[in-house]
Amino acid sequence: MIDCKICKIHSTFEPIPGLQFENWIVRPAELEKNCPGYYYIEASGHSTSYIEVNEEAWKEYGKIIHSLTGLIYQNYSPLKIYTVSIAEMVPHLHFHMVPRYTPSPTGMEYLSLAIKGELPPL
Ligand SMILES: [Zn+2]
Repeated sequence: MIDCKICKIHSTFEPIPGLQFENWIVRPAELEKNCPGYYYIEASGHSTSYIEVNEEAWKEYGKIIHSLTGLIYQNYSPLKIYTVSIAEMVPHLHFHMVPRYTPSPTGMEYLSLAIKGELPPL
C-alpha cells in the first residue's frame, strides 16, 4: 500500500536480531520520543483491523508481548509498561509498547504525551 506510512517504513526496515517474527514487525520508536524501550508492534502486511489478522498471527503476538515485556523490564527498568493500539493517524494495525519511568503523569495523560513525542527528556 503506497500511501501507508508504516508500509513504507517496512519496505526498508532491517529487523532487529532476536526480534524477527513472521506476522509482525517489532521496531523501536524514534529517539525523539524521549522514551527508551518504547517499541512498535506492527502487522507485517497492511491490515487495518484485528479481524484481518489470522489466529496464528495472534498466537505469535502473545509471544511477542511476553518476550518484549521481559526485554524492556530487563534492559530499561521502567515502573510500568503500557500497551495501546489507536491507529487514528496511520491506518495500519499497530501497537505501542510504552514504558513509563516517572511516577506521574500516568495512564492516558502519559500515553498521550508519549505517542505525540512530547515527553520531556529523562
Ligand atoms: Zn500499511
